[in-house]
Amino acid sequence: MEYTLNHPYLSSIMQSVIEKNPSQPEFYQAVHEFLSSLEPVIDKRPDIQANHVLERIVEPERQIMFRVSWVDDKGQIQVNRGYRIQFNSAIGPYKGGIRLHPSVNLGILKFLGFEQIFKNSLTGLPMGGAKGGSDFDPKGKSDNEVMSFCQSFMRELYRHIGADCDVPAGDIGTGAREIGYMFGQYKKITNEFTGVLTGKGLTWGGSLARREATGYGLCYFTNCMLAKKGTSFEGKTVVVSGAGNVAIYATEKATQLGGKVVALCDSTGYIYDKDGIKLDIVKDIKEVRRARISEYVKEVPSAEYHDGCKGIWTIPCDIALPCATQNELDLESAKALVANGVKFVAEGANMPSTPEAIAYFQENGVYFAPGKASNAGGVATSGLEMAQNSMRYSWTFEEVDAKLKGIMESIFKAADETATSVGHEDNLVIGANIAGFLKVADAMIAQGAI
Ligand code: NDP
Repeated sequence: MEYTLNHPYLSSIMQSVIEKNPSQPEFYQAVHEFLSSLEPVIDKRPDIQANHVLERIVEPERQIMFRVSWVDDKGQIQVNRGYRIQFNSAIGPYKGGIRLHPSVNLGILKFLGFEQIFKNSLTGLPMGGAKGGSDFDPKGKSDNEVMSFCQSFMRELYRHIGADCDVPAGDIGTGAREIGYMFGQYKKITNEFTGVLTGKGLTWGGSLARREATGYGLCYFTNCMLAKKGTSFEGKTVVVSGAGNVAIYATEKATQLGGKVVALCDSTGYIYDKDGIKLDIVKDIKEVRRARISEYVKEVPSAEYHDGCKGIWTIPCDIALPCATQNELDLESAKALVANGVKFVAEGANMPSTPEAIAYFQENGVYFAPGKASNAGGVATSGLEMAQNSMRYSWTFEEVDAKLKGIMESIFKAADETATSVGHEDNLVIGANIAGFLKVADAMIAQGAI
């Protein structure tokens, strides 16, 4: 891919990112999307260049890599690599999830940590950007092996995090079980019960509605997009990719709002149920049995299962919500969606659409929302979990859900109004990037050369 930019300052930043960070294509992709969004404002804010804000913002404040050795059920020592990228703390403590997946590497975590800076800024809550993880694969491991890994991971990570310093959360492969094992180990080592992780269990400091937050928030955001175009979820056909935390609760809320979700996938294949996905069956397969999505057709014989994930984008729909992983939706898939009449695409995953796919949507009248705006509900509710932990108090589900809805509506408003103000109405990529960035840039300038 070419990482060209018209503005000389932006172009020089891009070149230096490529030179200084060899073989990190996902990081280049995220930085390039961000820098190209700044073209309408960069000359209007000469203080950004004068203070070398971009040179600083593309360089993580701290990158930690460490060995994670643990003992499997056969008594063998296994070795994985652990990471924490503390990208930017200009507006609050570092905050971002922990990804456990064999594909994890430094470049992927840097793309995720970089996007997290602007996403967290958009929420309006005081949170900096970070991301962490490991190439450990929880799939196929026993609970005991997962615990052994999580405890070893935390034995190193604990010294770098804290409730006022860095607060990790879940992400792909890190759900309630993993957060529990990590929290237990942190508490054991430090002898402190603090809100050092979010996504905790409800009886030990977790927030109601955190589990639902990313998927619900995605639908609240999509609802704002639909409303702007004078319509709603009512009667719309929806395709959701993934079958994890984000996908399941996006399906739940889209259905509550009157949409019909007809497809979901995991990394082996997708299901199509023309009558609408029965979510209780999916929850049992994914949340209770930790099995493959293909099991669905055993219980719903009228549904179809197909190997491979890409085919999910050939299903006709009005709204597509990619909620699995980065770059899962490419140009070919975007063309299939447009040919079948899609009108709205909102990202639940981080960077699931390739740049070519996004450009195709925008050129063909599809109203598109980038993940850093539309999936910010998860981290926003993590911010609410931190607030409740600090107060030693908990809000009801309805209170948290109402705050989440309000935050998603204000993110939409910020991205929408910013896009319009720079002459790019309905370009939520540009709007979200500029709105998220300017707040961080102002804080960095105010805090001097650090
Ligand atoms: P989960 O681990 O709960 O679920 C991920 C889902 O995506 C699984 O069904 C998984 O299938 C599927 N998947 C993973 N890789 C691929 C692939 N290469 N092709 C097709 N399907 C794939 O993760 P989450 O739901 O938490 O996260 C999903 C996305 O949302 C990620 O991009 C994450 O960064 C982002 N996100 C998550 C937030 C959260 O609060 N959890 C907040 C904001 C963003 P399988 O089980 O087969 O691996």
